[in-house]
Amino acid sequence: MKAQSIRRTFVTDFDGTLTRQDFYNLFLEQLYPADAPDQWAAFCAGKITHFECLRNIYAHVPVGEEGLERFLEQIELPPNFPTLLASLHTVGWEVVIASAGSRWYIERLLARERVSLPVHTNHGRIVDGRLVMELPTDSPFVHPHAGIDKAAVVRHYLDRGHEVAFAGDGITDIPPALLVPPHRRFATGYLAARLTERGERFSRFEDWSEIVTELLK
Ligand SMILES: [Mg+2]
Repeated sequence: MKAQSIRRTFVTDFDGTLTRQDFYNLFLEQLYPADAPDQWAAFCAGKITHFECLRNIYAHVPVGEEGLERFLEQIELPPNFPTLLASLHTVGWEVVIASAGSRWYIERLLARERVSLPVHTNHGRIVDGRLVMELPTDSPFVHPHAGIDKAAVVRHYLDRGHEVAFAGDGITDIPPALLVPPHRRFATGYLAARLTERGERFSRFEDWSEIVTELLK
């Protein structure tokens, strides 16, 4: 079987996977008041969805558009990101982003690198200085829990006969990771811990560029 005859799609999470820093974690650490409601606890208790948790946190603080732009400066894509994408392209891998975060910052960070990729994520806009996340009701992958159903994104490409790789680090990455074969499953952080507990095989990574090295083999 010639690998090149099969279309290849690498679905990657964004925060904490493609970027080392997680927009959500940094926002909590640096911008969200310590005495504000504990939205993550409410999510863990099943009182609100993952989407509502992030939406409530971001909308709580009127950081302002300029403040958010400055905040974004500390989040970095992998060094030489456009070159990494070009190398993946030479062996047939197309990169697709699936994120429970927001297009507001993902598109800005990609534009900084002059990169354009398919991005499946929640909408976001600034209203009265606050980042307001909105469900992507125009997406075929919309789901009330996290906004985007990442497993549905992976399934979309599998159903079309693509070879699919997936990389992630968080709680919403467990279902999509389990859909791809172990040698195409890349995990770090929380996702790696949960997969280990379940006895599921995967490749562990610290930096997204390590996945590129694997996919180029
Ligand atoms: Mg993540």
